[in-house]
Amino acid sequence: MAEAPPLTPAREVELPPELDDPLYRQALGQLDHALQHAAVPPPVAAKLRYPERALSVSIPVKMDDGSLGVFPGYRVQHSSVLGPTKGGIRYDLAVTLGECAALAMWMTWKCALLRLPYGGAKGGVRCDPRSLSPRELEGLTRRFTTELLPIIGPERDIPAPDMATDEQTMAWMMDTYSMQVGHAVPEIVTGKPLSVGGSVLRPEATGIGVVMVLDAGLRRLGWLLQGSSCVVQGYGKVGAVAAHELTERGARVVAVSDIAGGVHDPAGLDLVQVSAWRREHRGLAGFPDAQAVTNAELLELPCVVLVPAATEKQVTGENAGRVSARVVAEGANGPTTLEADDILAERGIPVLPDILTNAGGVAVSYFEWVQDIQRLFWGPDEIRIRLGDLMRDGVSRVWALSESERLPLRRAALVTSIREVGDALEARGFYP
Ligand code: NAD
Repeated sequence: MAEAPPLTPAREVELPPELDDPLYRQALGQLDHALQHAAVPPPVAAKLRYPERALSVSIPVKMDDGSLGVFPGYRVQHSSVLGPTKGGIRYDLAVTLGECAALAMWMTWKCALLRLPYGGAKGGVRCDPRSLSPRELEGLTRRFTTELLPIIGPERDIPAPDMATDEQTMAWMMDTYSMQVGHAVPEIVTGKPLSVGGSVLRPEATGIGVVMVLDAGLRRLGWLLQGSSCVVQGYGKVGAVAAHELTERGARVVAVSDIAGGVHDPAGLDLVQVSAWRREHRGLAGFPDAQAVTNAELLELPCVVLVPAATEKQVTGENAGRVSARVVAEGANGPTTLEADDILAERGIPVLPDILTNAGGVAVSYFEWVQDIQRLFWGPDEIRIRLGDLMRDGVSRVWALSESERLPLRRAALVTSIREVGDALEARGFYP
């Protein structure tokens, strides 16, 4: 593994106040360091540091108690150089414009890394989704979609699920958009239910992709997934599927968590029982036959593989020195801060970066969009094979650059992506 040059910001950057967010600084810090290796022309580099377009909206919702709630919402499009923009919609109390801008930038790199014909976008609504009733969530989603109409479209910007949004959210978005244009437009969103043009394997794609990358990555590092102990933070759409896929491939999942905390059994958890408990009790808390741990403790448990699959900024300068895993596989977006990257590199703990490791979701979203446009649907075997090909190709390209230019994996992934986008931007030129 290549020696990691420090990742802490090379220089203080002047940011417009609306982008001055810790997560955007993290994305920009990664970009600035990768740009030192990418050798793209300065105007290209300058353009890639900022999003192309951002929309800020307020969303009025008639609440069940008769009051009116007003929620801030955002959609940020980082780059449309390679095609329509693509990225999830999240409902969370931490959503800001700057957070969406960081996540949109990472979507650009993720799509370019897998050579998908998309640029990056991200959106979200600042709300506590667990305090909203299904009717309130539907109202929020339909009005948010209506506010986004000027900038979304199947050839412009295609949303997908992210934290606390799901197939139902996408069905409401698809229906709202379709009602505006007067006919069904399934290709306006991905991650929909099968009944309205969704794709088989889309719900599982991100988690399965994480394990595909991990399997290929561990082999290259000289280790095997079979028998390895794994810790998964976040038992949602990404983490729960990844945990099940890990056990199916012979790994031992010793701890999982949700926002309220985790459960740990060094002998390996019975995930069928864990999932049944979570469904019945709407969380992992109180699960018997395993030891309760906090999320902070979970991140430091001894294991071969740590999969942060919950949210950003979990492995930090404060706790990275105590991470006991031999490899970190980023299921979540941005779970490792710049300072933590430096510390893990110094300690010889490789990080399989988010833009590669969790790209399975957008890969199968691309398959869903293609199927919707063609009105021709593929079976699960075809999708799994195509997904495996894309993920393994991504791993090969990242590893090849990491070895030839002696770069840590995250830097190699970013440089690969930046060169893809940079070549296209140079070829298109700057309009007018
Ligand atoms: P989700 O809402 O389905 O699940 C999130 C899980 O993390 C839940 O178990 C939740 O309780 C837990 N969690 C939330 N905040 C936490 C915190 N502060 N500490 C500990 N646990 C916490 O969301 P998801 O779709 O699984 O997304 C998880 C991560 O993966 C996010 O970073 C998201 O951007 C990223 N991601 C998702 C997809 C996708 O297809 N859903 C694709 C690529 C990346």
